[in-house]
Amino acid sequence: MERISVAIRVKPTSRQEVSNGSQWKVAEKKIWLQNEFGACIKGQSYTFDKIFGTSIRNGEIYEHAKDLVLSAVLGFNGTVLAYGQTSSGKTYTMQGSTSDPGVIRLAIQDVFISIDKIEDREFLVRVSYMEIYNEEINDLLAPDNRKLQIYESLEKGTFVAGLREEIADSVEQVIAVLERGEAQRQFAETDMNLNSSRSHTIFRMVIESRDKSHDYRQDNDPTAQDAVRVSTLNLVDLAGSERFSKSGAEGARSKEGAHINKSLTTLGIVINKLSEGGGKQGSHVPYRDSRLTRILQSALGGNARTAIICTINPDEIHIDETRSTLQFASRAK
Ligand code: ADP
Ligand code: MG
Repeated sequence: MERISVAIRVKPTSRQEVSNGSQWKVAEKKIWLQNEFGACIKGQSYTFDKIFGTSIRNGEIYEHAKDLVLSAVLGFNGTVLAYGQTSSGKTYTMQGSTSDPGVIRLAIQDVFISIDKIEDREFLVRVSYMEIYNEEINDLLAPDNRKLQIYESLEKGTFVAGLREEIADSVEQVIAVLERGEAQRQFAETDMNLNSSRSHTIFRMVIESRDKSHDYRQDNDPTAQDAVRVSTLNLVDLAGSERFSKSGAEGARSKEGAHINKSLTTLGIVINKLSEGGGKQGSHVPYRDSRLTRILQSALGGNARTAIICTINPDEIHIDETRSTLQFASRAK
């Protein structure tokens, strides 16, 4: 399995009439921009492992991340990222709807299905849900936990201090926690006049397992390395990737925009370095340049697996943003 996999998802169009200008054309592995005469515009053709067209449901999108979720149960860290401009379908992909559950719910179900199949290990699942807004980390499970700080220790690696973790031992319990966090996010959006498309949300499951046959009183047992495994699975709905220009926004809005630009740019650089095999040869990976990449650090580099779902809006007015998303996706693979 590849360490980083990238898929594109095309949102169903909201356009009423068929455009007679430039438009995106989609094949299984290729997407290109066609001009009004039906010819491919030079330099505007991109290839990917997987391009999901407008009629694809979340269940099929989830297949793109499934291996990563299953390996998290076996002890490998993993991160699923939804990247794209506002309104291109990131939240739809991650949360879904009642009739079409999204990646987060499908992953939760799969985690518990896999746990049930592994009889020789005992599992503990801990859930947390946080949001990064304006480079501030807020806890969606404990509304008073605001502006949390990131620390590093030898034992834990990079961690968010004070973040609430809920222990859950069934699909229903994890979903209840997820829904609590969602309600808090929506409340904050209205009450504090925040705009959720400007925050990154990280829904996290920490999966710990112990070998049942291992004698934990024997500290120097040579097989002990595998006796306990701890892995982190991050399911991330990123802030809208549209570029904020300094001229358009003022004051607080412009500061928010700058933070989003910075964190998404850093994410792009980090993923690009990792996909080129960076980090291994000791080349510098700038995790520290944004809160987002620092929080995700242990589940992006090393043995971790990453699945990126880039959502695009095929409407003509969004051509520039779509192109920028496709470029991000191209650099990531
Ligand atoms: P984003 O999170 O990227 O800002 P949303 O996921 O909120 O975008 O999508 C914007 C709107 O489009 C929502 O009303 C959502 O329900 C709808 N939508 C997005 N993707 C799909 C899809 N694949 N099928 C049906 N509706 C979708
Ligand atoms: Mg959204």
